[in-house]
Amino acid sequence: MDRITLKARAKVNIGLDITGVLENGYHLVDMIMQTLQLHDEVTIRKKRETGIEIRSNLRYLPVNENNIVYQAAKMMVDEFQIQDGLRFDIKKEIPVAAGMAGGSADAASTLIGINRMYQLSLSTQELCIRGLKLGADVPYCIQGGTMHATGIGEHLERITAMPDCFVVVVKPKASASTKIVYQKFDQLSQVIHPNMTQLLLQMEDKSLNGIAAAMGNVLEQVTIPMIPEIASIKEVLLKNGALNAMMSGSGPTVFGLYTDRTQADRAVAELSYIKDIQKACVTKFWNK
Ligand code: ATP
Repeated sequence: MDRITLKARAKVNIGLDITGVLENGYHLVDMIMQTLQLHDEVTIRKKRETGIEIRSNLRYLPVNENNIVYQAAKMMVDEFQIQDGLRFDIKKEIPVAAGMAGGSADAASTLIGINRMYQLSLSTQELCIRGLKLGADVPYCIQGGTMHATGIGEHLERITAMPDCFVVVVKPKASASTKIVYQKFDQLSQVIHPNMTQLLLQMEDKSLNGIAAAMGNVLEQVTIPMIPEIASIKEVLLKNGALNAMMSGSGPTVFGLYTDRTQADRAVAELSYIKDIQKACVTKFWNK
């Protein structure tokens, strides 16, 4: 096999709570993650010249060792003494620095792709051990689907998949640094926590209305004051018939849940006229 193309799928958080901080500064989380059909494409090719080469359709994405795909590839090349040169073409569709784990998804695809290309026979668990060294979200991206994450995010349990619906994903032009959002969270004097127990019950029941009513993201209390467009986007999504709308991860991407495709399209059309929006599209949840 000289070439392989993989879909690196984005995620959203259906629920996100922070339940504590460890002495080393790591946060204890209680999160529900769900893969979307929205994806990047990572193509891996063997090449004659040695070394790792990265190309991307996004001009501002690093193509050196700062790209997480480079780091994932280097890890595998070194460990398994791969002699070929490798070229990676990353076709980005997932907004960058957006709370959708785009980089982590690309890294997961890189590990999976090299494992297949060189028939290394690494199990999912063995890939996840390597993925965790690259980033906290990489093991989740390797497995995909619907997961409940606890601990510092490393404990993953597969749960009932989200019911089928249309998902409108909206990324404002502004970006949020995950590190700063978590730092600011630690300075909040009062925090309103989502009811994760209730959300998990609704997910088990596959009740889309129940899930929509229970979903919540504790980090909205930090990111919305930093990026007020998030609140305006939520309003537009709700006004156009979303069952609910919420920020994903540390933001600033917002997503809305719809049962009606026409309403979802209308929301996207309305948002495309707003100058502070970088991307607005309709996608669906993805499960294995
Ligand atoms: P998360 O939801 O895990 O917090 P994110 O959406 O906030 O992820 P990414 O899109 O993964 O963040 O990007 C974070 C940073 O990583 C960006 O500043 C970007 O320059 C850098 N980066 C390195 N490699 C990649 C890649 N392949 N795709 C996207 N970003 C990358």
